[in-house]
This record gives sequence, C-alpha cells and structure tokens, in this order.
Amino acid sequence: MSYYNLLDENWIPVLYLNGEFTRLSVKKTLEDAHLIRQIAASNPMDRVAIIRFLLAILYWCKGNPPKEENEIPTKFPMEWFEKLDQNRECFNLFGDGKRFYQDESTKSKNMLPIGSLIHEIPTGISIYHFRHAIDGKVGICPVCCAFGLLRLPVFTTQGGRGKGPGINNKPPLYIIPLGKTLLETLFISYKPVFNLGSPSWDTQNNVNTTDGTVPLLNGLTDLPRIVRLGEPTTKGQCINCGVIDSLITKCVFNDNRNRYGNAKWEDPHVAYFKSKSLSTDNPLKIWFKTDRPWTTLLNYFLETNLNPPQNFLIVGFASDQAKHIDIWERILKIPKLDNSENNAQFQKEWDEAIKKIPNLIKNSKRKKNLNEQIIIRIIRPHIEKQISSNLSSIIDGTIQPWDFASSEFKKVMPILAKSLTPGFLSADIDKQTKIASFVPIFKSTNNQKSKKLKGKDKDESN
Ligand SMILES: [Zn+2]
Repeated sequence: MSYYNLLDENWIPVLYLNGEFTRLSVKKTLEDAHLIRQIAASNPMDRVAIIRFLLAILYWCKGNPPKEENEIPTKFPMEWFEKLDQNRECFNLFGDGKRFYQDESTKSKNMLPIGSLIHEIPTGISIYHFRHAIDGKVGICPVCCAFGLLRLPVFTTQGGRGKGPGINNKPPLYIIPLGKTLLETLFISYKPVFNLGSPSWDTQNNVNTTDGTVPLLNGLTDLPRIVRLGEPTTKGQCINCGVIDSLITKCVFNDNRNRYGNAKWEDPHVAYFKSKSLSTDNPLKIWFKTDRPWTTLLNYFLETNLNPPQNFLIVGFASDQAKHIDIWERILKIPKLDNSENNAQFQKEWDEAIKKIPNLIKNSKRKKNLNEQIIIRIIRPHIEKQISSNLSSIIDGTIQPWDFASSEFKKVMPILAKSLTPGFLSADIDKQTKIASFVPIFKSTNNQKSKKLKGKDKDESN
C-alpha cells in the first residue's frame, strides 16, 4: 500500500539559485532552503500555500524564533526539525492510519469527484468551461492532491450546499515578503507570537482560544473542509498537471465550519486596512471598477512603514460567489517610504477625475451611454493596469501618476476615435481628430506638493 509520505517524496517544486528546477521532499526543501531561490509551482495559489505550510512546520518544530538568533542563519540547523521524524505518520497522504489534513472518521462516506479539491477542475454539469472533466472518471496525481490539501486553509471559498469559506472568509489578498532565498523568505515571516497553538496535522491539535484569539498554527492550518482522499487507482494522466501516475478520482469533501466561535484571527500575510482585509473585486461586476485592487494596495503600503525596501509576492483571488474565480499575482518592490501622503491623496483624486471622463467626450454622434461604457469598461481598466504595473515607481515618486495616466490616454484615444467615427467625410475626420487628440485634464488639488515628493528635503523652508 502506498502511504506517500510528504517528508520523503519529492513533490515540492523548487527553483535553485543556480537555475536548476526540481521537486523535493519537505525535509530536503528545508535542508536546502538557503540554496533555493523560490517555490516554483506554476499556480500562484500553490506558491502561497507551500510557503505558509513550510512556515507552519518551522513554528511547530522550533517554536518561537530563538532569542539569540537575531540574524538569519546561513542554513537551517536540521536538528530544529527532529519533530518531523518523530511524527512521520502525520504526513502520510494515504494508508489506513493517520493521514495529512484528512479525517479518519469519514472513510468512504459520500465520496465526491476529486475536482472538488482543485479550483481549476470543473465538476457538476455546467458546460461553460474550456476544460471538461467527467466526474469520477478523471483523476489527479498524489502531488496535486497535496497541493489541493494545502490550499484548503488559504483559498477555500464559500461553496454551494452549505459549505463555508476558510478562516479568512472570502480569500483575501495575500502579501508575502520575499527574501533572496527560501530561507530568508521563511525567516522574514518567522516572528515571535504569543499564542502559538498546534497545526491541524498534529495528533494533539488543541484549540485554545481563551485569550480571545485563534492561535497562529491553528489559523495557518485551519481546515474548512473534512476531507478524505480515495485510494489511488491504476495509472493514468493527471487531469491537473499531466503526469502519468496513480490517480485519485474521489474524495470526501464535507463542510467543517465554526471551530473557533468569535475568537479573533489575524493572518500574518493578510493586509488589514481600516480593520478590513484587502481583497480583490468581483471580476463580473458590470461596473467593474479597476482591473486590479491597486488603489487599496497603494493606500496600504503608504500607511505601512516598511523599512528597508522589500519585495512582496502579492496574490489576489477574485470570485463571484465561487462560481467564477480568477487568480492573479504580482511581485512588487516597495521602496523605503518616508512621508508619501501626496501620493495617497492621488488615489482619491483619481476616483474623482475618472468619474468625469465620460462627460468629456461629447463629439460623437453615438449615445453618451455607449461612450461611458467604452471608457469605463475598456479604457479605464487598461490605463489602471498600466498604472498598477508601475506601482513601485508611483509610491517612490519617480513616476508622477497624473502625467503617466495622461500619456496612456494619448496612446489609446486614437484607437477609440476610429471606433466612434467612420473617417470618410471631412466632418467625421474632424471629429476623429478631436477625439484622438483628447487628453483628460486631471486636476490634482495637491499638485504642487506632489511634484516635490522626491525633493522634499531640499526646500522644506519654502
Ligand atoms: Zn498532478
């Protein structure tokens, strides 16, 4: 019988500093963490889930960071992780005994298609999918099962039929500070905590919320579903990753909510801004405001004192009641910030200015309503995407957002002009030229100040 132990099997995709890609066991990943550049899963959800899993292992094995270790060690002392070998059975994916992130009491009850475990695999009878899967016939490999289990605490959405979301409710934006190696990345997030608790894979998984908070390890590994993987069957092609391996076609997948009552949970990788966690917008809203939640991110970073400059892996999860989901990622370099209130003001002004844009284009014969839709649904997301791609430079002041937005308009307006007027009669050509040369005037109420952002220390006395 296969047990598929996560400590020994090579399943974690990693990219070494020398460019080599391979898959490693949990133990080898920790042993080589100082030589590994990053977790190299193709889906950003898996990168976030694996980093958080390794962080939970670090806390579980070593406890809080040792006081004498002010600096990041050159490599992990492997004696820190002796607890792993003492609890090997906790990391079995299959077999009769204890299994990783699975419930023994639910054996063979109400098995569902394995697609329940992986967001990308469709289940049920909806035909609106690019990829089709036959429930109960297609299967996934053990590695993809491990990925699916690790996603449970991080990316579980509100499901149909009375299934609740994960501990962070609607999956929020995860913001993970990155180091130059995996070792550094884990250490940046490895901070002393008061209420450590124990992870879901631990046989003594106690929940102590007496101080009103959810303990760190309980929260990081909290399972909103009761899962039990079916047994691996004969070999075939994994519908998720394409490898030929023994496949798992079914699993138990039941709701497992309300484990912590009203205890407060503060996730180490979630940005709380004005006591709400940042998340992405529903991608299907008709007046979908922006392509990405960059304005809230901008505010968050401007309000958070980050020192020194740092790279962040930012992974956002947008959903429409779990029917449609979208995942995106960005690696953002946040510079050392001083007082950047001028650019924080920019976000408010942007929202005001953008509302006026539809009124600015009056020269078309078409209905105003149509213009609004074109502007808001096509041009605005495009321009906002350009701006959000340059967020680091906007935060540090090397790009002035208003100038940048204007220059982006200059690129797209000629294209819009062609779609609004035929361009054969001279009157139409006139209109086309007018529209093409249109640039909205963004009037920043804080204009003079924002220009001084970089040279603040030069002329403070003025
Ligand atoms: Zn697979």
